[in-house]
Amino acid sequence: MHFDIVTGLPDLLRGPLDHSILRRAITEQIISIEIHDLRNYGIGKNRQIDDYQYGGGAGMVLMVEPLDRCIEALKRVRTYDHIIYLTPDGKRLKQKMANQLSLGTNLMLICGHYKGIDHRIRENHVTLEVSIGDYVLTGGELAAMVLVDAVSRLIPGTMNDGTSALTDSFQDGMLAPPVYTRPSQYKGWKVPQILLSGHDQKIEDWRRQKALERTRHIRPDLLESDD
Ligand code: SAH
Repeated sequence: MHFDIVTGLPDLLRGPLDHSILRRAITEQIISIEIHDLRNYGIGKNRQIDDYQYGGGAGMVLMVEPLDRCIEALKRVRTYDHIIYLTPDGKRLKQKMANQLSLGTNLMLICGHYKGIDHRIRENHVTLEVSIGDYVLTGGELAAMVLVDAVSRLIPGTMNDGTSALTDSFQDGMLAPPVYTRPSQYKGWKVPQILLSGHDQKIEDWRRQKALERTRHIRPDLLESDD
């Protein structure tokens, strides 16, 4: 899976890619990520990428031309499963969407900033608009990282144990059961005895039961929805 990320603030994206699971997935060429600095497509001597919005009002808007030139340049190299704009008014990112996106080959992610991007880019280039939740961020970079992380961990080989991602919350429409590790007693706080029993079937049943209880209690809506 290849990700192209278009941003006016490339430095914001580097940290999360340099550590742990994502870094290993990149080193092992399970995923590849290229960050494209919008300034390289900026206009004039100052490489301008944003301007005031028509009609007045506070907040800058990322201009149509630098974005269009960048997107066109990338499209000449690759064919994309989706050109995604991260935006609070997009379709909410859920596990089901992450699963679907993880089956693709190339994704382009466009990060807005300030007031957003010139709407003509959304009308003419973007094929999927994604929100990571009902709140507003200062820019699309963190949202892009959330999407890259959620999708990448579903790609076979990214996680050491391929089954691990399948037992996480939402994957089967339920929250995950509680997990524990050594020691089995700490300050008198005990790990549930069943987990120490070595009885695989009973442990499996217990985990399912706990997952169901937690889902009913914390997120009953998940049991009714199909996404
Ligand atoms: N004026 C816009 C918000 C702009 S926020 C509006 O009211 O809808 C600036 C940028 O941050 C956006 O262009 C988008 O790329 C990103 N962003 C903010 N909140 C986001 C969210 N919940 N999900 C995805 N991207 C978000």
